[in-house]
Amino acid sequence: MTQATEAAQVARTIWTNHYLCPCGEEWSDEHDATCNDCCPVCDKEIEPFISDDGSITEKQIDAAREATLAKLGLCRCADCGCISRSEDLDGIKHLSQRVLPGDEMADGQCPECGALSYRVRLPESLYVVVHEHEYGMTVYQARATREPTVGELVKALKIDFDEEKGETLHVVVPEAPVRIGVA
Ligand SMILES: [Zn+2]
Ligand SMILES: [Zn+2]
Repeated sequence: MTQATEAAQVARTIWTNHYLCPCGEEWSDEHDATCNDCCPVCDKEIEPFISDDGSITEKQIDAAREATLAKLGLCRCADCGCISRSEDLDGIKHLSQRVLPGDEMADGQCPECGALSYRVRLPESLYVVVHEHEYGMTVYQARATREPTVGELVKALKIDFDEEKGETLHVVVPEAPVRIGVA
């Protein structure tokens, strides 16, 4: 090996690519590129949901995984954490004894352990918008999975906001997100 190829070898980035298939299979693989891979279960070609060159934190990987699970509509067992498609879940036995009125509805029963399994949803936060105008103040509320811009809130909540009249908008950003649907 020449010195030049040796240097190229050293400089080459090794990526840990993380994959999630719509069938529910998860795996990761090390490669010198952020390449697609075929699902070991159903053979579908999958793009990595995140590729780590060593600079990505566990938290960032977890957040990307949650977002991908939610996007794929997969379900997670509240007990063992097993990921399944909703069509692969078992029917819920003794439904009326296990789900109380007002509880979030489970999608089915985990095929591995029999506990209830729920569709993965991104945590939503409650944003409060205070609109001060010449007649006083109007308070609006919105839920979002990420922090919206003021422009997005004005549009989504149909706020009749006129800055030229000296009106003000104040957005109260929550400190902790409200976790919905995941035990
Ligand atoms: Zn698959
Ligand atoms: Zn389970």
